[in-house]
Amino acid sequence: MLTTTHFHNRFTDELGGTTLEMRIPQQLADSFYAPCEPEKVPKPRLLAWSNDAAASAGLPSLDDDPELRQTLADIFTGNTLLPGMNPVATVYGGHQFGHWAGQLGDGRAILLGETSGIELQLKGSGRTPFSRGSDGRAVLRSSVREYVCSEAMHHLGVPGTRALSLCSTGAEVVRDMFYDGHPRHETGAIVCRTAPSFLRFGHFEIFAARKQFECLRQLADFSIRHYFPDIHADREQSDSKTTYLRWFEAICHLTMDMIVHWSRVGFVHGVMNTDNMSILGLTIDYGPFGWQEDFDPVFTPNTSDREARYCFGNQPGVARWNLACLANALYPLIEDVPALTKVIEGAEQYLVAAMHSMRLGKLGFSPADQHSLAHSETTALLTDLDALMKTSKMDFTLFFSMLGESDVLEAKLPNPEAQNMLAERLSSAAYKPLDENTLQLWAGWFANYSRIHADLAGKSEEQGEGGRRAAILSSHNPVFIPRNYLLVSAFEALDEGDASILEDLMQASREPYRRFTAIDVYGKRPDWADNYPGAAALSCSS
Ligand code: AMP
Ligand code: MG
Ligand code: MG
Repeated sequence: MLTTTHFHNRFTDELGGTTLEMRIPQQLADSFYAPCEPEKVPKPRLLAWSNDAAASAGLPSLDDDPELRQTLADIFTGNTLLPGMNPVATVYGGHQFGHWAGQLGDGRAILLGETSGIELQLKGSGRTPFSRGSDGRAVLRSSVREYVCSEAMHHLGVPGTRALSLCSTGAEVVRDMFYDGHPRHETGAIVCRTAPSFLRFGHFEIFAARKQFECLRQLADFSIRHYFPDIHADREQSDSKTTYLRWFEAICHLTMDMIVHWSRVGFVHGVMNTDNMSILGLTIDYGPFGWQEDFDPVFTPNTSDREARYCFGNQPGVARWNLACLANALYPLIEDVPALTKVIEGAEQYLVAAMHSMRLGKLGFSPADQHSLAHSETTALLTDLDALMKTSKMDFTLFFSMLGESDVLEAKLPNPEAQNMLAERLSSAAYKPLDENTLQLWAGWFANYSRIHADLAGKSEEQGEGGRRAAILSSHNPVFIPRNYLLVSAFEALDEGDASILEDLMQASREPYRRFTAIDVYGKRPDWADNYPGAAALSCSS
């Protein structure tokens, strides 16, 4: 049972600063965190619980036991603290939209502690020393988004923080910027998110900026010891510069792996500030995120990002920029600019290769296929596809999942019947009518695509080429993503006491590569969502 689960807090156990001095408000000296109790909430209610995330943290499944339900609501709104929990808010800084923003910190997140190596953090449980004049609260609208999307990302195979619970608090929260500039009273909520660590680039940047190099070193050593055990194991045999460089390189690769996954599923984070970059390459901070629907590389779901700095196509470049910020922060531990630059350049090459390979995977080419194809040929195929998808306003998820369906897989091109079938399929996945000329271009692209696959199948010694291709396609291309319009619908129903849409979304989220016929969550974005608040794009205040 829960009360006997052993909680502790590695962060506070091992990192100093227990005699915390608040020199000036919000300015903490030589400290990694500030002790901080969650504010009590009037009416804690558990709206959703992820049995799966719970299992990975050694926590119980939720059955029909109403008593357990209330116990969980009390704990995961912060009303009840269990023995061993030692709630704190941590200090970090960050570069926001290209500029150093100074100290930020957990303004509405409180780390409760950890169990089974998994940290538990409440998001929205009230003010902390880092709240900077805000309320430290979260609203149901954005908490539903975080809860569903974190769990979907996990099952999509994208590294990220997870969500254990979604609770409403019974307290109203006032938000103003969202709909029409007037204050709105919204339902307050708290998500408990989980991760092996919530350390961000900004946790290191703040100590470098303040020239607190001993703190910087302690935090780096803590990270290596707990989250990079291979590098830790080699420490005895290495000098410290080599150790820190290897660690930085590992962070670079984890970051780039995450970016490649985002591109694979069409995810746009929306606020890739360095304070939102995890050192474990986890997707963190689900705010105004969105998805590629009508394909456009400059799409950003964040309406506050007027210059589209964090648009889909910029995510790899921004990751590199953010890694350079981290390199700057880690410089005092390494003191070798050429070596740091070399690691970043290596990571960039790693990303380019991984991205190309992933994109070919989305077209059903195995790594062995990719080896035998000319680079110029595959590059042209991908470039032409991007251009066609953009001019056709093609739905990203529907297009790629269609490639694995049997009629498309087996289409005998250039047979006119097969061409008609394709034209129909493409038209239904596009957000605008496709004219004759565009359909001709698509027919040309598909003829080329199927010729390349046929050539490979001809060369292959293996049997069952079609089945292998279908397997590659279906493992790269999900049929479900938690689109913003679905999340809006789930929230609006839930706010009226109807959890059925949320439940459908969670069912689809748990198996996003499989289509459940009984639930209606697989279509393209409906017209009503184009201008509906939050259904296509959102502001930073979400
Ligand atoms: P974000 O844009 O979500 O990455 O947030 C940037 C910073 O603002 C972080 O340090 C957050 O902790 C803080 N923050 C965001 N929302 C709130 C809030 N409602 N109350 C207090 N701090 C907040
Ligand atoms: Mg943030
Ligand atoms: Mg946020």
